[in-house]
Amino acid sequence: MNRREFLETVAAAAVLPTLARQGAGEWGAPVFDLHFHLRPQPAANLAHLDGAGITKANLLTRGRALDQVKALHATAPGRFTWFNSYDVTQPDAEQVLTQAVKSGAQGFGEMKFHVAADGPELRRMYSLAADLHVPILIHFQEVDHAPNEGTWSAGFAKSFESVLKAYPRTRFIGHADAFWANVSADYHNESAYPTGPITRGGVTDRWLGDYPNLLGDMSAVSGNNAMARDPAFTADFLKRHQDKLLFGSDCSCRDGHGAGYDNPAAPRMAGKCVARETLSLLKRATAADVFQKIVWGNVHKLLRIPA
Ligand SMILES: [Zn+2]
Ligand SMILES: [Zn+2]
Repeated sequence: MNRREFLETVAAAAVLPTLARQGAGEWGAPVFDLHFHLRPQPAANLAHLDGAGITKANLLTRGRALDQVKALHATAPGRFTWFNSYDVTQPDAEQVLTQAVKSGAQGFGEMKFHVAADGPELRRMYSLAADLHVPILIHFQEVDHAPNEGTWSAGFAKSFESVLKAYPRTRFIGHADAFWANVSADYHNESAYPTGPITRGGVTDRWLGDYPNLLGDMSAVSGNNAMARDPAFTADFLKRHQDKLLFGSDCSCRDGHGAGYDNPAAPRMAGKCVARETLSLLKRATAADVFQKIVWGNVHKLLRIPA
């Protein structure tokens, strides 16, 4: 080792503790999980983040959850942001969600209810999100995982373009089966997680390109599945929408390594951590600068918080 190499090694070692604190070690960039459902025990939340090499996460809660959110903030300052949801069919939904934002919620979500994507219940939430300057994260699903599950935010492929046009001030974050299956133009609600090569020109792909107010949440088996189907498509898709995509896990495993994960509709993911699977996939599929935007940079811009 010559003197220059020695000094470089020393300099790198000095930087390491900072990078390790930001979680950059394992994935080569710090990682923000947009889609993390709050767990009742504070330690269980940290077990998933730390296990999967995740620096920060956005807590998704439903109903009145402020005390739990505050407790977690106190346990792990700076590691969590917060989105709240509430039953949109209830008359006090606007009041409860407005109060949540006043108490520190930075978005609405996850919105997962048995209503139409362009129905009156969600429409008033789209307006409210714009008025309060917060994004709204929506679960779109048309195909049952279990019998008679029903649909959530139904009619995505048919009706959501009219919503994107009608609410230009609302920042929409699309998520779940119907959002991701529709990256392929040949999808007609045949299955929850379609496989095989993608037919170019699916509505999700087109709308991400055409509407500045639509972003994509890559979490869950749905996001992973869409990106695992067709490597040539994936590389191109990630490049084209690099400023519109947000990494999330929606993983229910205990330890950030897959313990206890079981999604009956996706046997290939049994015993795996969705966060780890999708981070590995994204890292393989795209350049380091694009990966950094998707797993860290974009969400900080969206929430207007320092990276
Ligand atoms: Zn969901
Ligand atoms: Zn996991």
